[in-house]
Amino acid sequence: MTRKLIAGNWKMNGSLEANEALLRAVLAGLPAALGADVAVCVPAPYLAQVQALCQGSPVAWGAQDVSAHERGAYTGEVSAAMLCDFGCRYVIVGHSERRQYHGETDEVVAAKAQRALSAGLTPIVCVGETQAQRDAGQTETVVQRQLAAVLQSVGAAAAGMVVAYEPVWAIGTGRTATPEQAQAVHALLRAQLRAALPDDRAVRILYGGSMNASNAAALLAQPDIDGGLVGGASLKADEFLRIVAAAA
Ligand code: PGA
Repeated sequence: MTRKLIAGNWKMNGSLEANEALLRAVLAGLPAALGADVAVCVPAPYLAQVQALCQGSPVAWGAQDVSAHERGAYTGEVSAAMLCDFGCRYVIVGHSERRQYHGETDEVVAAKAQRALSAGLTPIVCVGETQAQRDAGQTETVVQRQLAAVLQSVGAAAAGMVVAYEPVWAIGTGRTATPEQAQAVHALLRAQLRAALPDDRAVRILYGGSMNASNAAALLAQPDIDGGLVGGASLKADEFLRIVAAAA
């Protein structure tokens, strides 16, 4: 069975003081024999702090975005090599908030995934439909198009990525997809990965969108849900630890 991954997405939250309290509580609460992989994806200015706190612990860390460019005159951007300098293992790519508020297209997302993979990072590639797209019966087309853009651009290297299915209508809304709704899309994505990659099982497909301590176990019990990308609930140590426990 695939080892599950629970990744926290802190989004634009935190402070030196709050991060330290949160991470100390998470690290103290993890069981000695951890049955799942755990990571936190944090705002870039805090990478050094998170590295210092998590180094040598079972908690890996990463960023929430990466530049599609290697280096140079791209004011405000952070490169994949810079993330590697701070020991990142993961980077979220193509989160719906980046697609929506920063105009990231499928092509940009694919370029970022490629950049991350070439640097040795594991991109967590997000796909997901809006409420309007779901209502119009376009869920399948949208998520398959988003994933196909990355698969076509990175080729066999896609075996080194993680996919996250995050229905936009479930993010930060408290409206979680039902385990059946999520599983149906995960099964589609799994089939798409299987058709594209000889070792598709290396790619975990996380569910994201209002995952919390109460709904995590039912979601994680689905055959094609290999973990969670957790926003709001990753900011509370107790809640995050209960989600990790549900995955282990
Ligand atoms: P949420 O966010 O858990 O707060 O819904 C998930 C995400 O956007 O990654």
